[in-house]
Amino acid sequence: MQRWVRACFAGRTGYSYAKKAEEVARELGIDRVARLASNENPRPPSPAAIEAATAALRTANRYPDERASVLVEALRRYHGDYRFVTGAGMDGVIETVIRTVVEPGETVVVSTPTFSFYALAATAHGARVVTVPRREDFSVDPAGFIEASRGAKLAFLCSPNNPTGNSVPPEDVEEILEGTEGLLFLDNAYVDFADIDYRPLMRRHENLVIGRTMSKIFALAGLRVGYAFVPEWLEPFYHRAATPFALNSVSLAAAAGALGDAERVRETRDHVRRWRQRFLEEIPETYSSDANFVMIDVTPLSGDEATERLAAKGVLVRSCTSFPGLGNSYIRVSIGEDWENVRFLEAIENL
Ligand SMILES: *Cc1c(COP(=O)(O)O)cnc(C)c1O
Repeated sequence: MQRWVRACFAGRTGYSYAKKAEEVARELGIDRVARLASNENPRPPSPAAIEAATAALRTANRYPDERASVLVEALRRYHGDYRFVTGAGMDGVIETVIRTVVEPGETVVVSTPTFSFYALAATAHGARVVTVPRREDFSVDPAGFIEASRGAKLAFLCSPNNPTGNSVPPEDVEEILEGTEGLLFLDNAYVDFADIDYRPLMRRHENLVIGRTMSKIFALAGLRVGYAFVPEWLEPFYHRAATPFALNSVSLAAAAGALGDAERVRETRDHVRRWRQRFLEEIPETYSSDANFVMIDVTPLSGDEATERLAAKGVLVRSCTSFPGLGNSYIRVSIGEDWENVRFLEAIENL
């Protein structure tokens, strides 16, 4: 037989995954490594999430509710009266939004450097990706973004941005919304760690989708739950394009449970903000961040070298060399538990 695969997969490396903590620990002969590479919540999920998920397992013989009502109702309680769609992680939502609005061959705009999955998903769909570089300080130029988006049906903007950590002011997002005809997908994966609220923009604009995830502050990365605020007109089309039953019933129940535990969210946010500030004060090369991670310039080392040296000291961080449009000399470090952060600070001091 011929082993045919599409050209877009033959020539590329795909998503960059973090090194497995267990393997590194085994190689080093140490009990535990600090896992600061994937921006996860270091604490287990809320007991409310675990309880709801356990109960849902008992009826796992049935297909999940195709409209994810348990989760959508919990989202309405948490956020108020908006339109929501859900997916298998925000990654699933991103794929479905692309499928809903973009024809193969059409243009998708991505503000860079940023999260790699927008371009991967658009390319896999057969779209053409146009990147708009951020300024030297990683801020976004609304006029440049609008210019690049002319004629495109979909554009991606991440705020707070992964991996740089900075946010786009809501006024600038609004300027972009007013200047573009296409849909803007605003990725808010880390907004719970910031002091910004983009939700009011949903009331004034019909071309905005705000993506959210349960993987970060809500500590459910392993269950793959994402959702988005969508304009009313888009919702029925999203459902037509979506993979049936993409979000399983156990994950749905867990997400609804986690949304009800406001205290746990507050604790996580406070913990992250405290440590983020300390990283900024103790490491001068740290960029100010609105997220649960910071980006650090490790010049004269490369990001890969620094990441390797830190791994040898039992600390896993993310080298940023795989982010197109970013220099070679950056690492991204998640805020972990106290002992992990302490170990990181000691390790980086002796790099
Ligand atoms: C983590 C992350 C997501 C995806 O999260 P899921 O786990 O797929 O819900 C989306 N966007 C950014 C910027 C992220 O960092």
